[in-house]
Amino acid sequence: QVRVRFPPSPTGLLTVGNIRSALFNWAFARHYGGKLVLRIEDTDTSRNTPEALQYTLDSLRWLGLTWDEGPEVGGEYGPYLQSERMDVYADVVAKLLAAGKAYHCYCSQEELDQRREAARSAGQHSGYDGHCRTLTEEQVKAYVDEGRRPVVRLRMPDRPITFDDLVRGEITFLPENLGDYVLVRANGHPLYPLVNPVDDALMEITHVLRGEDLLPSTPRQIALYEALAEIGVGNGRTPLFGHLPFVMGEGNKKLSKRDPGSGLGEYMERGFLPEGLLNYLALLGWSIADDRDVFTIDEMVAAFDIRKVNANAARFDPKKCEAINAAHMRLLPAAEFAERMIPFLAKGGVLPADPSDEQRQVLAAAVPLVQERMNTLSESVDMVGFLFVADDAFTIDPDAAAKVLTHDAGAVLAATEKALSELADFKTEAIEAALRSALIEGLGLKPKNAFGPVRVAISGRRISPPLFESLELLGRERALRRLEQARA
Ligand code: GLU
Repeated sequence: QVRVRFPPSPTGLLTVGNIRSALFNWAFARHYGGKLVLRIEDTDTSRNTPEALQYTLDSLRWLGLTWDEGPEVGGEYGPYLQSERMDVYADVVAKLLAAGKAYHCYCSQEELDQRREAARSAGQHSGYDGHCRTLTEEQVKAYVDEGRRPVVRLRMPDRPITFDDLVRGEITFLPENLGDYVLVRANGHPLYPLVNPVDDALMEITHVLRGEDLLPSTPRQIALYEALAEIGVGNGRTPLFGHLPFVMGEGNKKLSKRDPGSGLGEYMERGFLPEGLLNYLALLGWSIADDRDVFTIDEMVAAFDIRKVNANAARFDPKKCEAINAAHMRLLPAAEFAERMIPFLAKGGVLPADPSDEQRQVLAAAVPLVQERMNTLSESVDMVGFLFVADDAFTIDPDAAAKVLTHDAGAVLAATEKALSELADFKTEAIEAALRSALIEGLGLKPKNAFGPVRVAISGRRISPPLFESLELLGRERALRRLEQARA
């Protein structure tokens, strides 16, 4: 059975890179009917808070990236918080030491720096030189008597490490580039290069799909896996690795968590649909077909093939991200679209969180007018706010007023008022006919000059849903009041 994992460090930030990794693991697990394990890598207690953990869980739920084992879900391989697994790591380290797979290293930082510098100037490799690999009992005793506290290092094999990366094909690392590395700090704190593979082994992870930035740690982790297998930790199988391409931002530099557009929070606030964002993130390295960008998550699951992920760096394009989201906005059924607008309208003070039936009816009637015109849900307020705002709270965007409600707009608005008040049937088609006859034929105006002022007067903005439909939705009384107000 396929078992993959997503192991975030809960620092209160999920980046698009993290989410892409989560998505690919999720899609891979779903494709094969396997399990996705959510493991929280929170051993660095200074950077992790309960709030940050909750944020991570809530964000994954918002995205719909559900996990089969992990926090709030449980599972047979728990606990799933590394901070609750410290005794597990201590036990594994004791076994590694006892079997000679790992050893204590007493070198001080100054000594390491000095020797590294010397090696470098002699043109040699500058990783750990193995100084403490073979200490005698007397040497150890002398260090201990000096009061030195050791780190624990893994004894790396003296041979190349080769693996078949699921994305990049065969990769070989030479031993001179793989010094014995630190598993446990001198203060006893276990490090990522230890705890991550130990947990992958104990949780019987079959495939590790993660960012290319972690590629250098993979040969070391494979060596640790082999050591763990020899001491009987885990099921003895090394997982397959697939390293997902870098995500590049502006100026072809790696997208960093400080770059705008890199954090999930922004997309939630701007009203992206989770399905739109996930669709775009899937395109960072994968495609469903050469001629197709827009697909549903179910289609992705059905088609997902890690072997088809492209090893080349992917470029993060915020415009394309928005366009893909817009495509998903169009795909939503109208009633669903209305539902998703409500939280944004509530946040913008336009509607209560639980609107009345009447308000829902107006919203439902407005959806067909705006759905094709919106790229994100946060545009809801600008698009339909004017239909709900009370007349005494209605304001006109000053910029729109300055550009469109110029001195000759008064005549347009007056003619509009007259035409609309005389209208028998306040319906879209009749409204359109009446305004065309009054303004275009009657006043001899071009459509832009005729309808622009009316649009600004009733919606307060230069961009709004189609005018005649909007007038019908607004209703005659309110439309007339706004026209009058705009003329004043
Ligand atoms: N906690 C690590 C990170 O967030 C996990 C890396 C991995 O997938 O191995 O970078």
